[in-house]
Amino acid sequence: MKNKILSDSDDYLLENEPYYIETGDEISIFKAAYEAKLPVMLKGPTGCGKTRFVEHMAWRLKRPLVTVACHEDLFASDMLGRYLLKNDETVWNDGPLTRAVRMGAICYLDEIVEARKDTTVVIHPLSDDRRTLAIDKKGEIIHAHPDFLLVISYNPGYQSVLKDLKQSTRQRFVSLDFNYPEAEKEAEIVSREGNIQMETALRLVSLAGKIRNIREHGLTEGASTRLLIYAARLIGNDIPVHDACRSAICLPLTDDMKLQETLNELIDDIF
Ligand code: ADP
Repeated sequence: MKNKILSDSDDYLLENEPYYIETGDEISIFKAAYEAKLPVMLKGPTGCGKTRFVEHMAWRLKRPLVTVACHEDLFASDMLGRYLLKNDETVWNDGPLTRAVRMGAICYLDEIVEARKDTTVVIHPLSDDRRTLAIDKKGEIIHAHPDFLLVISYNPGYQSVLKDLKQSTRQRFVSLDFNYPEAEKEAEIVSREGNIQMETALRLVSLAGKIRNIREHGLTEGASTRLLIYAARLIGNDIPVHDACRSAICLPLTDDMKLQETLNELIDDIF
């Protein structure tokens, strides 16, 4: 009997095409950046398709995808790797970034500003001509595999003095601007991903449009495509439209009672 031997990188390959509707020229620019070995930054609000886009591109380019969700307790060493004790021996274990650099994967650092500041020291030499990763603990410098690509995401809406990307970091990346897709396309996405009729999807999108317009009045961010899909899925599971919109769209957006009332009025207007 023949066993299929999987290499490390096979574990990270996407078998099936991740569904993605192009909203501008992001596919050709990403492809060109990949060919030119230029790192890419995806800018945009939460839930507007950045992660799905990277998955789709990894599938298109037939590259393994390693994703790291960055958070405030993420240190550079978590991305690089560490020594672990195994049967009384210390054994080095590559972290996700090191693995991606060695195997020539696309490494997606989601919400990079959330990570500890020491991570920028690690990504700078990787994101310029050097394309190197220094592992101080091992005294090793790794030259990135020719197919390695660094991709980061960044939400300018959360911008604050403390959580802003430094110019020295941002000026190392080709940037793609993401936003909510135009109404027709967004409805198509909500209908397909949320498994509901186009007519209801269009109404959800128009509700989102109104919510996004009142953003200036206190909401930090508009309703994301992701939340519309959630509402669609609740509706598909027999939750009345008003309740579905309230639970999937209004309540996640804000704790402010006054704003909740305004949002409820918008739902009444549309459904
Ligand atoms: P982000 O990474 O920007 O926070 P995601 O990529 O997770 O957002 O998007 C949330 C969801 O919205 C996805 O799971 C997908 O179902 C849907 N989506 C958003 N934009 C698109 C698009 N252009 N094509 C297909 N699906 C999309």
